[in-house]
Amino acid sequence: MNPDALVVGAGPAGLMAADRLLRAGCSVLLAEARPSPARKLLMAGKSGLNLTKDEGFEAFLAAYGEAAPFLRPMLAEFGPGAVQDWARGLGQEVFTGSSGRVFPRAMKASPLLRAWLQDLAARGLDLRTRWRWLGGGRFETPQGVQAVQPSATVLALGGASWARLGSDGAWASALAAQGVALAPFQPANMGFLVDWSAHMAPYFGQPLKNIALIAGAQRVRGEAVISAQGLEGGGIYAVSRALREGAALRLDLFPDLQPARLIDRLAARPKGESGVNSLKKLGLSGARLALVLECARPFPADVAARAALLKALPVALTGPRPMDEAISTAGGIALSALTDELMLRALPGTFAAGEMLDWEAPTGGYLLTGCLATGRRAGDAAARFIRSRSG
Ligand SMILES: Cc1cc2nc3c(=O)[nH]c(=O)nc-3n(C[C@H](O)[C@H](O)[C@H](O)COP(=O)(O)OP(=O)(O)OC[C@H]3O[C@@H](n4cnc5c(N)ncnc54)[C@H](O)[C@@H]3O)c2cc1C
Repeated sequence: MNPDALVVGAGPAGLMAADRLLRAGCSVLLAEARPSPARKLLMAGKSGLNLTKDEGFEAFLAAYGEAAPFLRPMLAEFGPGAVQDWARGLGQEVFTGSSGRVFPRAMKASPLLRAWLQDLAARGLDLRTRWRWLGGGRFETPQGVQAVQPSATVLALGGASWARLGSDGAWASALAAQGVALAPFQPANMGFLVDWSAHMAPYFGQPLKNIALIAGAQRVRGEAVISAQGLEGGGIYAVSRALREGAALRLDLFPDLQPARLIDRLAARPKGESGVNSLKKLGLSGARLALVLECARPFPADVAARAALLKALPVALTGPRPMDEAISTAGGIALSALTDELMLRALPGTFAAGEMLDWEAPTGGYLLTGCLATGRRAGDAAARFIRSRSG
C-alpha cells in the first residue's frame, strides 16, 4: 500500500497518467470505483469513438475557449497528431471523416481499451476496481476501508454526468473541504427542453436536416433531433454553451438561400395560396414543416416577415436537459487552483487531470484529446515530483 504513485479514476485521463508514470519507472496503484475501468469511454464508443479532430493547431486550440491558454502547452505536446499516433501504437488504425473528426477504424472503444489495459498490465499496473476514493488516500473497498500512502497522487475522477458509469462528481465535496477552489458543475453538450404541443408528437425521433442553428453570435450547420422532451443532437450540442448562457435558439430552415432569394420565391407564389401550401411548394415537408407550424403561429401574411421567420425561426426552450444526461460537464477544479504542472496548490503532491478540471469544449474529439493531454501532463509531473522527493 505504499506505491510510488496513486492514480484515482480509470477513465482516459487516469489511464494516461498511469501510463506515463509506469513509463517513468514508478510503481502505480490505479483505483477505480466501478467494477471495471473506463465505462464512459466505452459508452462514448457506442456512437463512434471520436478521438480527436484533424485540423490546424490554432483552430483546434480555439475550441477550448477561455481555457485555451492554460491548455496550450499540454495540447501542443499531445494534440490531434499525437492522439492518432498513440491509437496506432495500440494497434488501432484511425480514419478522418469528412468533417475532420478522427475515429478508430473499429469505431468502438473496446479494442483500443483492451489493448491499452493489456499493455499497462504487462508494465506492472496494479489496478484495483470497486475502490471508491473517500478523500486523502482512503478508499471504501469490498475488504473494508483501505489506506494508501503514495509519494504522489493523480486524481482523474471525471465530471458530473452519466453517474451510472462512475462520474458522479461526488469527489467535489472532499476537495472543497481541503481548500481546493471549485467552479459549480454545469451541463455541456446537452439537449434542451421544449414544451411541444400535441401536434409535434408524430415527429418525435425525427431529425431536422438541412438547417443552421443560430444562438447569439454563433451560427452552425448541423442536425437536431426532435424528441418528446425537446431537441437533441450534434447541432444543438454545438450551440449548447451559448444557449446555457442565455442566448435564444433560432433555426434557419433555408441555410443555402439568401434572404432576398427567399423573399422572391415567396412573392412568386400565387395570390390566395394558403401559407401551408406555399411552404410545401418551397420544399418544406415533414418535421421542418411541422416545426414552422408549431413555432410561427400565426404565420404572417407579409412576404418579408415570412422570409425572416423561415431564416430565423424562434424555438422556445424551457431549459437544458438534466445534467446527468449531458455528454460532458463544465465546472470542477478551478484552473487557478492548479500549477501549470497540474498540481493542486492546496495539496502539494496531488495532481488532477481530465474532465474534473474546469474546462469545456464542444464534441468533435476535443473532450478526449483534452483528457488524454491533461492526464499525460499530470502523470509526467507526478513522476518528476516523485523523483525529486526520492533524490
Ligand atoms: C454518450 C457519450 C459519448 C461521448 N462521446 C465522445 C466522443 O466521441 N469523443 C470525445 O472526445 N468525448 C466523448 N465523450 C466524453 C468523454 O467520454 C469524456 O469527456 C471522458 O471520458 C472524460 O474522461 P475522464 O478520464 O476525465 O473521466 P471519466 O471517463 O468520467 O472517468 C472517471 C473515472 O473515475 C471513476 N471515479 C469517479 N469517482 C470515483 C471515486 N470516488 N473513486 C474511484 N473512482 C472514481 C469513474 O468511475 C470513472 O471510471 C462522450 C461522453 C458520453 C457520455
